[in-house]
Amino acid sequence: MSKGYAVVTGAGRSIGAALARQLGKEGYDVLINYSSSSQKAEEVAQSISQDFGVKAVTFKASVEDYNQVKEMRDFAVETFGEKMVVLVNNAGIMNRKKFVDMEPDEYARVIGVDLFGTLNCCNLFVPLMIKQNFGRVITIASTAGLRGSIDQSDYCAAKGAQIAFTRAVALEWGQYNITANVIAPGFIMTEGTAELGPQLEARIRSQSPLGQVGSVDDMAQALSYLINSDIMTGQTISPNCGVFMF
Ligand code: NAP
Repeated sequence: MSKGYAVVTGAGRSIGAALARQLGKEGYDVLINYSSSSQKAEEVAQSISQDFGVKAVTFKASVEDYNQVKEMRDFAVETFGEKMVVLVNNAGIMNRKKFVDMEPDEYARVIGVDLFGTLNCCNLFVPLMIKQNFGRVITIASTAGLRGSIDQSDYCAAKGAQIAFTRAVALEWGQYNITANVIAPGFIMTEGTAELGPQLEARIRSQSPLGQVGSVDDMAQALSYLINSDIMTGQTISPNCGVFMF
């Protein structure tokens, strides 16, 4: 019998793709959301179905747009039914600019995707979890939401707000056996971060007492722990190689 299904936003590549694969490996059907990585998302879905024998489908939606998320929710229910078990709010973008040099539409876009995306998905998908009296919501924030990070003020604001939001909804949803937690990673090697060049990676390694940077597999392990725990809620765990301690 199916364990139910999971929705992962921004799952066509990088961290989101690894999280979607982990969910497939654990026996969930998976809806892979993407906004532009159409071909990669199809490849991720195909590999999950082939490797783990679950159903994996893709859906294009920009998470900051409530109506598009609503269409995605309706598609999920048509495709998989109402047994929605896991929501992973992974989609995220950032600017790299001094705050006073940003145009309002630039910071609105970061807040839109990173924060409103999370709010929109929770608002539309969690009612399915409430109906069945069970669910797991995991939001991918960042160490940038726990401390300052230069040239990323809008991103810090969005990521810090995701953490505050999660604590609040964990209080609201506990009565329905729904847990809400955050993974706030430090530097994780992905296609995107590799493009930032070897100097950045070397700098982060030098700040780690372990001399390491994180991988998408470390994120998948953190996800697995949180979705399989009945007692973790309202928490933030931070796979960051010891670069930041709180
Ligand atoms: P990435 O490689 O830049 O990928 C970003 C993902 O977000 C892509 O799948 C992208 O989908 C999706 N996305 C962007 N705008 C979207 C929108 N409007 N609607 C739906 N999806 C959208 O990023 P990543 O490194 O994997 O990061 C994933 C998450 O981890 C983000 O929330 C990020 O803030 C967080 N994080 C990453 C690191 C790190 O070191 N990598 C560190 C801390 C936190 P498309 O390709 O389809 O557009």
